Amino acid sequence: MKVLKFGGTSVGTAQRIKDVAKLITDGECKIVVLSAMSGTTNTLVEISDYLYKKNPDGANEVINKLESKYERHIDELYSTPEFKQKGLEVIKSHFDEIRSYTKDLFTLYEERLILSHGELISTAMMNLYLQEQGVKSVLLNALDFMRMDKNAEPDPVYIKEKLMAQLDLHAGADLYITQGFICRNSYGEVDNLQRGGSDYTASLLGAAINAEEIQIWTDIDGMHNNDPRVVDKTDPVPMLHFEEAAELAYFGAKILHPTCIQPAKYANIPVRLLNTMEPTAPGTLISNKTKRDTIKAVAAKDNITAIKIKSSRMLLAYGFLRKVFEIFESYQTSIDMICTSEVGVSVTIDNTKHLNEILEDLRKYGTVTVDRDMCIVCIVGDLEWENIGFEALAVDALQDIPVRMISYGGSNYNISLLIRQSDKKRALQQLSDKLFNGK
Ligand code: ADP
Ligand code: ASP
Ligand code: MG
Repeated sequence: MKVLKFGGTSVGTAQRIKDVAKLITDGECKIVVLSAMSGTTNTLVEISDYLYKKNPDGANEVINKLESKYERHIDELYSTPEFKQKGLEVIKSHFDEIRSYTKDLFTLYEERLILSHGELISTAMMNLYLQEQGVKSVLLNALDFMRMDKNAEPDPVYIKEKLMAQLDLHAGADLYITQGFICRNSYGEVDNLQRGGSDYTASLLGAAINAEEIQIWTDIDGMHNNDPRVVDKTDPVPMLHFEEAAELAYFGAKILHPTCIQPAKYANIPVRLLNTMEPTAPGTLISNKTKRDTIKAVAAKDNITAIKIKSSRMLLAYGFLRKVFEIFESYQTSIDMICTSEVGVSVTIDNTKHLNEILEDLRKYGTVTVDRDMCIVCIVGDLEWENIGFEALAVDALQDIPVRMISYGGSNYNISLLIRQSDKKRALQQLSDKLFNGK
């Protein structure tokens, strides 16, 4: 059995829900994971913000607007009066529940309950639509099997056992529909897998049932060899290794959430990225196999801060790096890139919440300088060190752009360069021209 995930844009309108319904009813039984309709989770966050600020009137205004939008979707989605009525009842029950949280104390607990309704609504709408079409579809509630442990990590043993039990209970269905993103925490409370987490749900469910394939459907035809929002000419990459996809997902190629890679890689289940708007396009296949001797893609991550610590004490000393790392660790700030010389070390971070405290602590060990508004450009491919020429090509493409750091050899799959954010567009275009467009 396959697991297919459709993102918010793929179910963003009544027409798109109909298109997805057509795609998933090909006679093959599958598990379909849906995101909330696009924009909904953001609106639910906005509602929660009003309630945190003790402004129930503001919240209710947004709730009413969102409800009216859903009523219009219902009218467009169903063709018979019976199903229009059923659809309206579904919407009303969810919005009544959302409204119930505007009355009392508002905490993180209520916020998570509010956020869960986006996916609960989209899946209920899809399930009802499939039933109107005469499809034997079953709506599985992710809260019955998606559970996290005490460390807020998914509990794969629990997920497998409970999901299997649900599938047995509803054996013989044409299709199973379930929610991405939502789960229960170790106290049994409603929680979620963080923004963009529906991809993670799909991957965890795929691993739980040992799926033959996990498909992530979005509104673009696979992972592109450069950011299509920034660069003129980009092409989909047909095949990627899990490690290559992980580097790209982390470094800004938003098409796939980085957390979704590990469960699939570990269970050796291929992940295919496909385009809902162009379902016959081949997309990108991510697996434990790689295409050798090629550079496959470039991605970039903004809002990076570089910190350099220079110290004569580092010379011939041991333990210096440990001290530096411990400072970042004590402020729960992870380091992305690192370059060292005999007298200094440069690192980059993307979370600057504790930057001032970190700098203060670092100054005890040497002279500290900071560069803000930087950008990591990540070049991904079969960059095994004995392959010659790829590093030279990358650096050559950026010959007129100031480069602050270069990191190579950390893995067999990537070269990272740190440049100014203001040079990003030019850098990505020049890399595309040199590496992929044969200029
Ligand atoms: P969905 O609604 O399907 O969940 P997301 O919001 O998760 O969609 O993001 C997918 C989007 O990421 C695509 O529509 C695309 O515009 C964008 N994207 C960013 N970088 C890349 C890249 N390198 N390759 C493909 N798509 C990318
Ligand atoms: N709906 C959630 C979000 O917008 C999860 C997802 O779409 O993956 O973040
Ligand atoms: Mg997404």
